[in-house]
This record gives sequence, C-alpha cells and structure tokens, in this order.
Amino acid sequence: MTEIREIAQLGASVLRQHAQLVTDVHNDEIRQIIAAMHATLANTQGVGIAAPQISISKRIIIVASRPTARYPSAPLMQPTVMINPSFQAQNEHKEKGWEGCLSVPSIRALVPRYTAINIDYIDEQGNQQTLELHDFVARVFQHEFDHLQGKVFLDSVESNQDIFAESEYLKLL
Ligand code: ZN
Repeated sequence: MTEIREIAQLGASVLRQHAQLVTDVHNDEIRQIIAAMHATLANTQGVGIAAPQISISKRIIIVASRPTARYPSAPLMQPTVMINPSFQAQNEHKEKGWEGCLSVPSIRALVPRYTAINIDYIDEQGNQQTLELHDFVARVFQHEFDHLQGKVFLDSVESNQDIFAESEYLKLL
C-alpha cells in the first residue's frame, strides 16, 4: 500500500528550489513518487499537487480539479499526471481568482493568472501530450507549475490586501 506523505510547509527549502527534470519516466522511483502523490492528494481537499510538496524536487504535478469543500465550483476532471510540464499563454489576459495551497494552510489569496494556456507535458506512459486549458483548470496548472519553479501563490499576489485568512474567505462564499 502506498503511504500518504507529509506535505512540505511554507518555509521548507524544497518549496523554494527549482525542481529537476525527469529523465526516465519508466523507472521505479518515478512510479513510486507518482503513486505517493496520488495517495497524498486523495487524502486532502486539494485540486492539485506538485512533487516538491511531498519533499521531492522533481518536475511532476497532478492536476485534479473536482468540486470540494475548498473549491465548491471546481469542474470535475480525472486526476492527470504531468511530467516535465511547460506552458504558453494564448494571450496576455489574466484574471484574479481565489487560491489556497496545502503547503500554506489557512490562507487564501486572490492571484492573477492567465485564463487560456497551451500546455505540453509527458504522461505516465512516456508520451508527449499537448492540451488547451481554460479558467479554473488553467489556474490550477499555473499554481502547480509555480511549485516547480520554487514559487508559491503568495509570490504572485498584486497586493498584500488580497491575502485573507481562510475563515474570512469562507464568509465571502
Ligand atoms: Zn500549492
């Protein structure tokens, strides 16, 4: 059985490192990391996870948009593993939306993100994939991608006034 890993918390150096490219998708270590990421994410109310959040500095993310108590209006999609992901914005348009992070508990913030992006990644089978993402799912992708760059969502807020305690955020719903 795959163990649920501890989530690295803000201040941990692994969250500030530029994560390493995965060179061999098929090796056992990578398979175990992906299994641990699935198990850990499923144990939370999160809609995505990046390998650095389980203290592994490799370029692997899972995007798993689903309606949860944390994100009641999130669209439902299958958890999608993305290895060595990259993206390009379709245009310069960004919108602010609420984000939280398993590594930054009890905080929410309004973060400007591109609303339409084209992404590339390698899937679990080792195949190159391209996808077009919009709105909330594009937001989740950009949030997780930032983790691979050593960034967290608080680094992208326009103003400290856009940072809320979760208890205050919940009053807005
Ligand atoms: Zn996060």
